[in-house]
Amino acid sequence: GRRIEAGEIRIEHLAFSYQPGRPVLERLNLHFEPGSFVGIVGHTGSGKSTLLSLLLRFYAPQQGRITIDGQALDSVPDEAFRSAVGLVPQEPYLMAASARENITMGRPDISEAQMREAARAARIDDFLSALPQGYDTLLGEGGTRVSTGQKQLIAMARALAGAPKILFLDEATSNIDSATEQIVGEALTALRGRVTVVAIAHRLSTIRDADQIVVLNHGHLVERGSHGEL
Ligand code: ATP
Ligand code: MG
Repeated sequence: GRRIEAGEIRIEHLAFSYQPGRPVLERLNLHFEPGSFVGIVGHTGSGKSTLLSLLLRFYAPQQGRITIDGQALDSVPDEAFRSAVGLVPQEPYLMAASARENITMGRPDISEAQMREAARAARIDDFLSALPQGYDTLLGEGGTRVSTGQKQLIAMARALAGAPKILFLDEATSNIDSATEQIVGEALTALRGRVTVVAIAHRLSTIRDADQIVVLNHGHLVERGSHGEL
């Protein structure tokens, strides 16, 4: 396996079920261009998180294949996969630690400049800089309280600090104010051309500027297009 340089994702004839006879995804064909911004929407239970789990290699599909930069997903070495892929989970966690540690996660290869750049890209630098001790301010349990939306932005900074070629985001479902939701969308849009972004969205405003919006219904692709086309 080679390193992941471009972040092109191809999904061919994908089928997956957790239990035999109960397909969750069926005959799915998708192509995500390198550096494009893809939004995934669909009602609850339509298979959005399942698709993300397959892309993250948490499960293996029973049929079809997924390739990244032309390599079969399961043949990409763990180290190459980890360094190329970032995840912003639906319910991000904060450690009881400084803002800096929450972004770098103790990874020694991340410089102060890279950490700040990631925070700027995630649109959380202004907030963290303005805290009493700036990036040394304790967050999480016993520290400064942050909202769900701010947690998600910090998790985005954490993911971007690793300079991923592909960023997966599972948008938080609760407690995000419309200002923060717009910031998430702007941050993702600004990554266009550099990072392939695949974002599960619960709000259309987050993916308004996506290059491609995939609509899932019961594990089938039902529509695909840009926000203007759908
Ligand atoms: P939501 O918008 O509520 O997050 P979703 O589109 O992410 O929904 P999935 O979580 O992918 O939907 O679920 C798709 C289907 O697979 C649902 O019917 C769900 O009950 C089922 N499912 C999800 N996870 C599992 C699991 N670990 N084991 C068995 N079935 C599961
Ligand atoms: Mg889900």
